[in-house]
Amino acid sequence: MEQKLRQEAKALLEQKRVDWIIGFAPGSLKFTTTPLITSDKADTERLVINPFITNNLANFLTDIKGRVGIVAKGCESRSIVSLIQDNKVAREDLVILAVPCPGVIDLAKIERLTGKDRDELDDITRAGDKVTVQVDGKKKDFAVADALFDHCLACELPTPQEYDIILGDPRPPAPELKVSGQSIEKLKALTSAERWESWENELSRCIRCYACRNVCPACFCQRCFVEETEPQWTLPMPQWQDNLIFQIIRNIHVAGRCTDCGECERACPVNIPLRSLTREMYDIVGELFKFKSGMDKEALPLMAHYEQEEAEDFFR
Ligand code: SF4
Ligand code: SF4
Ligand code: SF4
Repeated sequence: MEQKLRQEAKALLEQKRVDWIIGFAPGSLKFTTTPLITSDKADTERLVINPFITNNLANFLTDIKGRVGIVAKGCESRSIVSLIQDNKVAREDLVILAVPCPGVIDLAKIERLTGKDRDELDDITRAGDKVTVQVDGKKKDFAVADALFDHCLACELPTPQEYDIILGDPRPPAPELKVSGQSIEKLKALTSAERWESWENELSRCIRCYACRNVCPACFCQRCFVEETEPQWTLPMPQWQDNLIFQIIRNIHVAGRCTDCGECERACPVNIPLRSLTREMYDIVGELFKFKSGMDKEALPLMAHYEQEEAEDFFR
């Protein structure tokens, strides 16, 4: 896949079919990748596809002018389609390079499984349903279901359905990986009072860095409500009640746009289980409106239209 991606990306730039390529390059830390945005065809040799391609690259599309070739896993492709629905990007300006995605390895889980910091690990490889970690000269095998991000274990569309070039054989959702997020299940088992206490504890740790918002392709407002001063929806200093308001309003804003890519939870520096909120909203949207984000570029955005029978008298 990696070789094919490099060839295709280079050809797209050479043939001037795109102005930019967005993909992944090796990160500066072990077992990481970093987004690569380039117009230089020599840079395409740095493109990688490996089990650590975490970011949702659709996040960069709204800031780039010109035609773009973008590497897309299943969740990314849905975020791209959602941006097309919202008229934030034009389909004709994109060449989507589809990665049939086997899931991304969660380094925090690997650290817990091995009891080692990622810097102490020599190698991490994946073959089929097994993840092998080499540490202190020994190899340890783990089930892939223990090593992938929770959102990958619940992935509904590993292979993009909207693409121009596909880089490998399509992958169906793996039924054996279909387990729901453990943190969500734990929260649902609590009483309402216990759940409130849990969120108070979790959100008291929020430092309002806005990483969760900034990595999210569905959060594309030029001016976020948290920066408004008239009215002032939240105070700038992080106190848990305002942190809660921030997350509630953010979740309402991304309803029907969130593709359960898991980036907000991964980016949170204090490990707040944000996916417990976003996945719940994703499921509620599915149940109430029979709507799944980013599946059909011709569909109208969920929160930007209504049917006449839904309209209140004032609109009729
Ligand atoms: S959610 Fe699906 S498409 Fe996205 S990284 Fe995980 S397995 Fe891949
Ligand atoms: S990423 Fe985490 S700490 Fe930062 S604003 Fe979001 S919830 Fe708060
Ligand atoms: S809210 Fe979180 S999971 Fe949903 S699209 Fe944004 S970053 Fe991804």
